[in-house]
This record gives sequence, C-alpha cells and structure tokens, in this order.
Amino acid sequence: MAIPAIQVARLGKYILTQTLKGNKHYPLVLMLEPLFQCNLRCKGCGKIGHSPEIMNKRLSIQECIDAVEECGAPIVSIPGGEPLLHPDMPKIVEELIKRKKFVYLCTNGLLVPDRIHEFTPSPYLTFNLHLDGQKEIHDKIVCKDGVFDNSVSVIRMLKAKGFRVVTNTTLFGGQTAEKAAEFFDFLMDLKIDGMTLSAAFSYEAAADQDSFLTREQSIKLFREIFKLGKGRNWDFSHSSFYLDFLAGNQDYKCSPWGNPSRSVLGWQRPCYLLEEGFVSSYKELMEQTDWDKFGVGNDPRCANCMVHCGFEPTAVADSVRRPLKGAMLALKGINVD
Ligand code: SF4
Ligand code: SF4
Repeated sequence: MAIPAIQVARLGKYILTQTLKGNKHYPLVLMLEPLFQCNLRCKGCGKIGHSPEIMNKRLSIQECIDAVEECGAPIVSIPGGEPLLHPDMPKIVEELIKRKKFVYLCTNGLLVPDRIHEFTPSPYLTFNLHLDGQKEIHDKIVCKDGVFDNSVSVIRMLKAKGFRVVTNTTLFGGQTAEKAAEFFDFLMDLKIDGMTLSAAFSYEAAADQDSFLTREQSIKLFREIFKLGKGRNWDFSHSSFYLDFLAGNQDYKCSPWGNPSRSVLGWQRPCYLLEEGFVSSYKELMEQTDWDKFGVGNDPRCANCMVHCGFEPTAVADSVRRPLKGAMLALKGINVD
C-alpha cells in the first residue's frame, strides 16, 4: 500500500481542518534539507553546486525540530544532499517521529548498509530511494557504476528488516514509455510500498541543462506510460488528481507554499526548486512572499514545471473540493486517449 491508513486518515483530517478554517496557504510537506553535501555528483542535480563553505554546513537537531514545529506540516521529507552523511540523522528522525510527523528520508542508498542499525521500523518512517531507471540509465545519471545494484540490494534489505520503502524517479529526456513501464514493473516486484514520479524540467540551479523535458513532452510521456500501466497494479505515492494532471487532464497552478523548503541557508523562496532568496522564519516566508510572481504563466523559469512538490498540494486540495471527480477517477482510471 503506497500510503499507510494512519497517514491517509491524519492527512485527511488536517486538510479538512485547514479547508474549514478557510486557510488558503497551508503546508502539507516540509522539505527539510539539513545539509547539501552528497557522496554522489548526479547529472541534473541542483543542490551540490554551492561553495565549500555552504556544502560543509549542517542544520543541528534543534534547528530541525524548530523548523518542523514552526511550519506544522504533517509530513516531513528530508532530501539533501545525502541525509545519511549527517551524523545526527537518526536522532533527528527519532525526534520528528516523537512529534507524530510522517518522515520520508530520501537517500541514494550508498550509506544505508552502514547506518541502518541506527533506525527502527515505524509506520511514521519511510525510506525514499532515488532510482531514475534501470541499471544503465540510473548509473549514467548518477555518474557512477554500481549505484543501481547497491540501491536494489538496499531496498531488499530494508524490506526484509520491516521498513517502509518508496522510490523516487525523475524521468529525463531520452526515457521511453516502454522502458519506464518495464522499470515500474521491476520496482513493484521488489515489493516496495510505492513510487513517486517527476519529469526533469530545466530549473535554473540544475547542473546539466541538456536532458530536460518540455511540458508537452512530459505529458506525452506520462500518457504513454499510464496507457501501458493499465492493469499492471502500479502503486504510485501520489493522489489520483496529480497523476491526472501529469497526463495533461488538469490545468493546475502550483501551490509552492504547500511544500515549504528549509535548508542550511534558511527558508527558501518560493519553492524547493526555484531560488529567489532565503528568509529567516516560516512566518516571513508565508507572509512576505509575493506568490503571484511565481508559477506557470507568471515566471518563465516555471513554464515546464510539473513537479509534485509544486502541484501535488494543488491536486490534494482539489480532491477535497471534488470528491465526485475523485470517485470517477478511481472507477475509470486516468484518461489517456
Ligand atoms: S544523490 Fe541527490 S543530492 Fe546527491 S548528487 Fe544525486 S541528486 Fe544530488
Ligand atoms: S511552477 Fe511552482 S513549483 Fe514549479 S518551479 Fe515554479 S514556483 Fe516552483
């Protein structure tokens, strides 16, 4: 099951409460980046190009707790950099779970065998393994041989130990629907708990600007993939409305406030991918950001963006507003014709 029942129930209650209160800008997932340092140098990564001084910075345990409490989002995603390079990561995770946050620890898998004894399985903890395709594709994107094989053995080990595991896959230019479909079959055979999907679009900080998809190319690719996926029991960790959006059936604007981003540099404006400066508090981010300046149609850098950290909060809010449409999607599936 992609999302545990306890998470679905807690999230449903949270969204309903926010909607009833009339809150327009509420957070769903805090993107917590306690360090930018990484043990890989992937093509397309926008996080590892900072100065050595910034790359050596770490958020302390208390800074992480403060960010989580200040923001109040029910889910905390911990990307990076590579979070397992942070010596205090097990303690940070433990503290967040104590506060009943659903933690997604995003990792390239390399350090999992050395550090897994420091973590305990919990419905509140999910390891999110970065895997962008089959062996030849993934190892090429991460610019290192053997990373794919390591990730696969790490997934098997985590599942055997009782951890929840999802994967996150970014589809780059050159990926075909057939190869992606084979890859999703392969992932589901590993008995993972869900898959997340993104299309690589040319956001400004990414190192490799040659492998990105336009919005039209992304929609075409997702439609072909979903067509191939009919009857294949793929389990995506996304709302059906977001998948419908990826297939080009929904005309959404992004909700960057839904996934606020706190890193070693502060609270990032306006979202995880676009960098328009940093502020020192969540309150400042929410109250002093001119959200209308960003998003598709407002900022040319956003033109091709379909990422889940921007559009999933919009899709989730829509699913609360239109339960009938949700029921139709569940019944008929995504329209790919
Ligand atoms: S593993 Fe993630 S953070 Fe590290 S280089 Fe690759 S994309 Fe960047
Ligand atoms: S479209 Fe929204 S989520 Fe995407 S980069 Fe622009 S502001 Fe961020």
